[in-house]
Amino acid sequence: MEERDALLVPHASAVEALHGIEVDYTMVRPKGRSMLRPYEIIWVVGVISLIVFLHVTAQCFIMWPYYQHTRSFTFAQYLGATIPHHCLACYLYLTYYVCLNADAGGVPNGWAPVLVSQHDETKAPSEHRRYCHKCDAFKPPRSHHCRVCRRCVLRMDHHCPWIGNCVGHGTYAPFLRFVTAVCLTVSYHLGMLILRVTDYWNEDGYFIRPSNTVVVLLVLNLLFAIPVFGMVGFLTLYHYYLLAVNMTSIESWETDRVSRQIRRGQIPYAAFPFDVGVWRNIASILGHNVVWWAWPWQRPPKDGLSYAVSLKDPDAQYFWPPRDPRARPTKGFSDASDEDALYDSGSSDDEIDAPEERMLQHAS
Ligand SMILES: [Zn+2]
Ligand SMILES: [Zn+2]
Repeated sequence: MEERDALLVPHASAVEALHGIEVDYTMVRPKGRSMLRPYEIIWVVGVISLIVFLHVTAQCFIMWPYYQHTRSFTFAQYLGATIPHHCLACYLYLTYYVCLNADAGGVPNGWAPVLVSQHDETKAPSEHRRYCHKCDAFKPPRSHHCRVCRRCVLRMDHHCPWIGNCVGHGTYAPFLRFVTAVCLTVSYHLGMLILRVTDYWNEDGYFIRPSNTVVVLLVLNLLFAIPVFGMVGFLTLYHYYLLAVNMTSIESWETDRVSRQIRRGQIPYAAFPFDVGVWRNIASILGHNVVWWAWPWQRPPKDGLSYAVSLKDPDAQYFWPPRDPRARPTKGFSDASDEDALYDSGSSDDEIDAPEERMLQHAS
């Protein structure tokens, strides 16, 4: 049995114990990611075209003619200016490729929550069993059903059309590396082009007036690169904050809803359980060794099915988010008794899918 399956089998065993059914261990592997849809292909081709356009035009049609026509610009200076740009662009291509191909993480067949402590008698079993009726399966902590991927995704953050993939347990680190690479590459790109423009007024320089093609491409580069830098920069800072507090975008919506309902006295106080300190929060996504944080293929250290919590009760992960009193009870299993009716703990699928998920899809 492979190492990955060995991690999943205990959960399948829990299903056997809970429901008295036999689990087919050959079916324990989670459902993989689906193929890109036609409109997703258009998004992805658009992103790749933009990156290649900025990279190639800046190098071949702006910097190279600049070097050729500027006697005060030595070859060493030219290499010093362009090689870091190539390196950053290559890292950007690589991180984007990993984002496209990585699996965000599906729920293994037969997975069920396994509570460590049974001391809280006040909570009904249904309260910690988040259930997805679309997948007809239990939902691990922090997972949500993605309508685009048509499956539950572990530690789902949002579905990102720009990378044609869900940002979840297996893709959050690649997503962070990608947006970081975009910020670094575009800021270097802008710095390089701005120096090129300001050199026009360099009294010690000597160069021939740029051609119309160069001027047009220079303007187009600035027109594309500045908004990209602004938008992706803002998104990156927001996700650095979420990384530091170990929160997904969906959970940031949930905590807003929970705080509001606590203030109104609609639900009892409940702390967000997954913030275990900045270092552990970051390490849970990027790994414990800083040297490997930027490595494109570095996998998250855990399986995404259970999480460390800041509270004394390790089962707190199954009780987050607190159930929304406005949410309608979801239907139980056809073979479950009324007492064993299963609910989403907190936000129902419908709530996550709309309008929040739609907004998150467009925000990324
Ligand atoms: Zn689902
Ligand atoms: Zn998705």
